[in-house]
Amino acid sequence: MQLQQNISLLPYNTFGIDVRAEYFAAVEQLQDVDEISALPHPVHILGGGSNILLTAPVKGLVLHNRLKGKTLLQENDSHVWLQVQAGEVWHSLVLYAIDNGWGGLENLALIPGTVGASPIQNIGAYGAEARDTIEQVTFRHLSEKTMHTFSNADCGFGYRDSIFKGELKDKVFITSVVFKLSKHPVLNTGYGAIEQELERMGATDLSVKTIAQAVINIRSSKLPDPAVLGNAGSFFKNPTIPRVQYEKLLAAFPAMPHYSVSNELVKVPAAWLIEQCGWKGYRNGDAGVHKNQALVLVNYGAATGEELWRLSGEIVVSVKEKFNIEPEREVQVW
Ligand SMILES: Cc1cc2nc3c(=O)[nH]c(=O)nc-3n(C[C@H](O)[C@H](O)[C@H](O)COP(=O)(O)OP(=O)(O)OC[C@H]3O[C@@H](n4cnc5c(N)ncnc54)[C@H](O)[C@@H]3O)c2cc1C
Repeated sequence: MQLQQNISLLPYNTFGIDVRAEYFAAVEQLQDVDEISALPHPVHILGGGSNILLTAPVKGLVLHNRLKGKTLLQENDSHVWLQVQAGEVWHSLVLYAIDNGWGGLENLALIPGTVGASPIQNIGAYGAEARDTIEQVTFRHLSEKTMHTFSNADCGFGYRDSIFKGELKDKVFITSVVFKLSKHPVLNTGYGAIEQELERMGATDLSVKTIAQAVINIRSSKLPDPAVLGNAGSFFKNPTIPRVQYEKLLAAFPAMPHYSVSNELVKVPAAWLIEQCGWKGYRNGDAGVHKNQALVLVNYGAATGEELWRLSGEIVVSVKEKFNIEPEREVQVW
C-alpha cells in the first residue's frame, strides 16, 4: 500500500469540498487491511465520499476503499448469496443484480457510494432498505486487529442507522457484504412515485429492470447530480416524534404531512419542516439549500465545509424554534 502525504480530498467527496488529508492511501486488496495498524493514526475510511461533510483538514490517514470483486457463494431454487467486496460501486451492484434477474436491490438504484458503506446507514429509498437483503457484513476491527462477520441481526439496523454508526463508529473497516437476492423477485411498487412513473413510462411488463428504470427516472428528475452541483443527498433524517406531539402540531399546522411508525410514534418529513422555515432555495455565498429539494444542502462552487455546517446549524435552530423538533444530521461530519 502506497502512503501519500498532503493530498487534496476534492476528487473524493461529492460535496466538492477542498480540504487536505495529512496521509492518504488506497486499499486495493485484503492484505492491505492487515497493514493498517502499522500506519499513521487516526484512520478515516473513505468510500465514495457521498455521505460526508469535510469541515477541516483531516489529521492522520484517509484510507480509500478500492476492494473489488463479487463471488457467488451459494444458490438454491429461490435465492442466491452474493459476496461483494466493499469497494464496489453500489449502483454497479444493482445493475449486476438486475442483469441476472435477481431481485431485492432494484428500488435502491442510483444511490451513490460504495457497497461497504451500504450497511453503515442502512441505505434506503422508495420503500426498500439495504437491511432487506444483507445477510452478513465482514469487517476488520482496527484497534483489536481482528476480523469479524456479523449476521443481519448483529448489525442493529434501524432507519438510516446501524451498529456501525453507533457503538462501532470509526472503529471498523467493512471489507465485504453478503446479499441474499431472490430468483423470483417480489416487486415493490407500493411507493406512490414509482406507480406514477411506471404509468408514465407505459410499462406493462413489470420486472426488476423496469422498477429500477422508474427509480432512476424519478431520482434523476428530483435530485441534483453531484457531478454538476456538489451535495451529499439528504442532509437530515426525517424526525420521529411522539404521536401526542404530532397531534398538537397538526392543530397549528393542518397541512403537516406524516407517516405512522407505530401507535405512539410518527415520522415527519424533514424536507417539509425545513421548507416551512423558508429555507428552500436559500443561498449565502456558495452554500445553499437546493431550490427543488429542501433536504439537500448544496455547494454552488467554493463553499467550505464549515459554511455548510453553519448553514445546517441555522436550519436546525429554526426548525426547533418553529416546531420544537430538532432534525438530526444524516451526513457524517469529518
Ligand atoms: C445525490 C445523492 C443521493 C443520495 N441518496 C440516498 C438515498 O436515497 N438513500 C440513502 O440512504 N443515502 C443516499 N445518499 C447518501 C449516500 O449515497 C449513502 O450514504 C452511501 O451509502 C454513502 O456511501 P459512500 O461510499 O459514499 O460513503 P462515504 O461518504 O465515503 O462514507 C460515509 C461514512 O461511512 C464510513 N465508511 C465508508 N465506507 C466504509 C467502510 N468500508 N468501512 C467502514 N466505514 C466506512 C465513512 O468513514 C463515513 O463515516 C445520497 C447521496 C447523494 C450524493
